[in-house]
Amino acid sequence: MIQENINLQPHNTFGLESIAKNFASFNSIDELKALLTLNQTAQHELLVLGGGSNILLTKDFDGLVLKNDLMGIEVISEDSNQCLVKASAGEEWHEFVLYAIKNNLGGIENLSLIPGSVGASPMQNIGAYGVEIKDVFHELEALNIETLTIETFNAEQCSFGYRESVFKRTLKGKYVILNMTLNLTKVHELNTSYGAIENQLAEMEISKPTIKNVSDAVISIRQSKLPDPKKIGNSGSFFKNPVIGKKQFAALKEKFPNIAHYPLDEDHIKLAAGWLIDQAGWKGKTIENYGVHKNQALVLVNYGGANGQDIYNLSQAILESIQTIYGVTLEREVNII
Ligand SMILES: Cc1cc2nc3c(=O)[nH]c(=O)nc-3n(C[C@H](O)[C@H](O)[C@H](O)COP(=O)(O)OP(=O)(O)OC[C@H]3O[C@@H](n4cnc5c(N)ncnc54)[C@H](O)[C@@H]3O)c2cc1C
Repeated sequence: MIQENINLQPHNTFGLESIAKNFASFNSIDELKALLTLNQTAQHELLVLGGGSNILLTKDFDGLVLKNDLMGIEVISEDSNQCLVKASAGEEWHEFVLYAIKNNLGGIENLSLIPGSVGASPMQNIGAYGVEIKDVFHELEALNIETLTIETFNAEQCSFGYRESVFKRTLKGKYVILNMTLNLTKVHELNTSYGAIENQLAEMEISKPTIKNVSDAVISIRQSKLPDPKKIGNSGSFFKNPVIGKKQFAALKEKFPNIAHYPLDEDHIKLAAGWLIDQAGWKGKTIENYGVHKNQALVLVNYGGANGQDIYNLSQAILESIQTIYGVTLEREVNII
């Protein structure tokens, strides 16, 4: 059923008000197809919504919002080493991680507590603490919005990159992701190379960690570092970490000897966007009811009642100042609507 004039405030973690002209949720593929068929006549602009944890709503939405409520998790096949598990797109990502851990299936424990839905996770190849979806990805099924046929995409076809996939680029707005199948381990190779995880495990006095221990460590680190959207509206990291060439990096390092960075490959260096924003003086900056989080320069926040366009304008001012000071172009990670 299509509802009219629905406030999207409860549907985005920034907690921003935005009125959707039309809104419908679907919990079956047939329901989704029926809605899309109706829309082929109406020709409304579409917004497929999961948990709304990676969007910035800058205005009212004059189209049709489709809230994904496709549920279900099933084992497709398994042997003594691994297990293919398919999860429907409307499942909450963190609930899926907990399902995996409960069933002793490894590979996504480092991705614990990332907000949002399973369906959105391949969109930007979610990642944290040295692991990305692409590392365990098997395939996904997506509905072609124009032809209403279901197509299967393997990892190569998804063309995953750092917070990127084909669905954010050339196929943007063309598919609704229905489900995703991951290849999870029964014999685990833990990735605790991120210092913070090692320190946390040591603090927990764990020397031989299980996947549950790693998940608990990640949850604990995240809870201590990141603002909880239930308390302060935000969408996590607002910007991506920029990647620059070695030559540009050498010049920057001369000017800013402490610049935070990670070597990416022979020719490229990844800079920490949070460091650049912090050093440029933005951390903790508050303008009326919105600003830059006091502990996390990468996170823009709504303290209550802010306007999405104002937050967008703030992101633009940050972007321009980073360009002026460092000559580095920041890119937004959050989807601007
Ligand atoms: C506190 C916090 C911490 C975060 N930490 C991380 C982190 O560590 N790593 C990380 O990678 N991300 C992180 N994020 C960002 C966010 O959690 C992820 O990007 C998540 O995958 C978004 O899921 P969602 O369901 O909320 O997507 P939404 O915000 O609902 O949608 C995001 C985009 O995907 C599209 N979309 C959603 N579902 C579908 C679908 N089924 N088919 C087609 N298109 C779809 C939407 O149209 C939109 O363009 C964080 C966010 C917050 C608030």
